[in-house]
Amino acid sequence: MRVHADQEKCCGAGSCVLSAPDVFDQRDADGIVVVLDTEPPAELHEAVREAAAICPAAAISLS
Ligand code: SF4
Repeated sequence: MRVHADQEKCCGAGSCVLSAPDVFDQRDADGIVVVLDTEPPAELHEAVREAAAICPAAAISLS
């Protein structure tokens, strides 16, 4: 799994960080998403899929 987050779409809601804190963080300055781990291990895939599903800006894409 590869994780990509579109910082142009992100509105800084932070839902992804709550779902998968090992994979997503937010910039201190403006709350925009930062991907900490673009190729997370298998045990985190479910949490990452949930994060992508609930992101209000549909900014997270998985491949
Ligand atoms: S849930 Fe979506 S909009 Fe919110 S911080 Fe994460 S990527 Fe950005």
